[in-house]
Parts: sequence; C-alpha cells; structure tokens
Amino acid sequence: MANSSSCIFCQIAAEQLPAEIVRIDDEFVAFRDVSPRAKTHVLVIPRSHVEHLDDFLADGGSSDRMLAFVRATAAEVGVEGQYRLVTNVGEAAGQVVPHLHWHILAGQRLPGFG
Ligand code: AMP
Ligand code: ZN
Repeated sequence: MANSSSCIFCQIAAEQLPAEIVRIDDEFVAFRDVSPRAKTHVLVIPRSHVEHLDDFLADGGSSDRMLAFVRATAAEVGVEGQYRLVTNVGEAAGQVVPHLHWHILAGQRLPGFG
C-alpha cells in the first residue's frame, strides 16, 4: 500500500514528523518511543505502510530482513542480547497505531509474563 499521509508512522518514515531516529535504511526505520515503557524503548517500522505483521507477511514482506534490522537496532542502542521484542497485531491485542511496529524494550530487568 502507498504511504498514507494520515498515518503518523508513515510521516516519521518520510521524515515529515520529528522523531529520534536511531537507525534507517531503504526498507526500515527505528526511532525512540515518545512515551517509553522501559529505559530503552525503540520502535522498528517498515517504511511502506502496512497495518500489522499478518499483512506484512501476507504481502510477501521479508521477516529475515526485518528481524536482521531489529537485531542491528538493538546493537546500535547497546542492548544486544538483552531485550524484549513485541508486536501487537490488532486492536484487541493493544495495537493503537495501525502501522506495523516492533517494540524493542530493554535497559532494565523486565517483569515476566507469569
Ligand atoms: P501500540 O500500542 O503497539 O500501537 O504502540 C504504539 C506506540 O507508539 C506507543 O508505545 C506510543 O508511545 C508510540 N508513539 C505514538 N506516537 C509516537 C510518535 N509520534 N513518536 C514515537 N512514538 C510514538
Ligand atoms: Zn503508515
């Protein structure tokens, strides 16, 4: 899908909306979450608009390249080997921004799910 002018993450990817970008290439962008839920909280998005992970994969998106970018981002912000990776798929799962994003949460001991 073409980038949507009404989508805030498309605007960040196009560098039309300010964000603290930590890594960028021709397919993905990583930037600091504006409301961090951990000492380190970075979001990774594809530059092209896609609503969530299921649609990304259905459209033939490369999970290999995306996860390689996630891993490089974790290294870039100094949390390699010690981070939580979360993506919310759909409103019921807590997705608020309808543009695929991975949360990289790190920099502190995180509570378990148990
Ligand atoms: P989710 O609930 O998975 O859709 O997460 C959306 C995330 O986007 C939240 O953690 C927000 O704090 C974050 N967020 C929303 N607007 C911005 C923005 N302009 N810059 C950086 N992060 C944002
Ligand atoms: Zn978008």
